[in-house]
Amino acid sequence: MRQTMRAIDASGYVHLNRLVLLSREMIAKVLDLTCARHHEEGAGAGIVAYKLTRSRRRTIGITIDQRGLRIGAPRHTGLQEIESFMRLHTDWICRKLDEWRASATIGPYVVHDGATLPVIGETWAVRLARGRQRVRWEDAARELWLEVRGGADPRQLLRRSLQEKALKHFCDRAQSYALRLGRPLPPLALSSAHSRWGSCSHRSGIRLNWRLIHLPPAQIDYVVAHELAHLIEMNHGARFWSQVERLLPDYQSARDVLKALAATVPRI
Ligand SMILES: [Zn+2]
Repeated sequence: MRQTMRAIDASGYVHLNRLVLLSREMIAKVLDLTCARHHEEGAGAGIVAYKLTRSRRRTIGITIDQRGLRIGAPRHTGLQEIESFMRLHTDWICRKLDEWRASATIGPYVVHDGATLPVIGETWAVRLARGRQRVRWEDAARELWLEVRGGADPRQLLRRSLQEKALKHFCDRAQSYALRLGRPLPPLALSSAHSRWGSCSHRSGIRLNWRLIHLPPAQIDYVVAHELAHLIEMNHGARFWSQVERLLPDYQSARDVLKALAATVPRI
């Protein structure tokens, strides 16, 4: 099978969050892969998220890496044809997902010059330099410069900078959802739990896992909208989900993709 390394952002237009059902074995593997990362589980089980990019290419290509399952297809290929192609290659996809999962569990993220890092749906390059313990986000080049004092641990600097970026992004998003709900923005704090993306309580406000910063905007929005909707409905009943839907009409596919991507979040 032809594998493509074409960057998703650099070509054509992108279909986000199309979902496809694969074989039973696949379903078992994917369920295993995306186990209990968020406190609500259930719907969407057995569905595999993929990101479809159409471009001028002539064949369909499948890529599996830390960004998940991605399909590249010629501009005019129908979805049915694309999905049957994927089903034909179920075994290969399973094997690749296995390999990817094995490599993803090797250990913590290694900070080195040139390492790549997903941030709000974009791939950044980490650059290391000697300096005064400060961070520069070079937007145009998508480079995150860590200027580290001799002997200091760049990981701490990286984590702090990601947390700052996370808090700012989450506050912006929460502010816009709070406005739409007609509620004041509750206190917002970061958490770093490994088992939860977010929580909401009337007493302490909203906590959002800073590691969400590694995921695409739609998945961050889903968690933020979910927790904000709890301001109105402190449960997971039908009225709660209709609040979530009001804020984010496509929340179901955003949630499914979140489950699929959970295992790809770097351990920094
Ligand atoms: Zn909830």
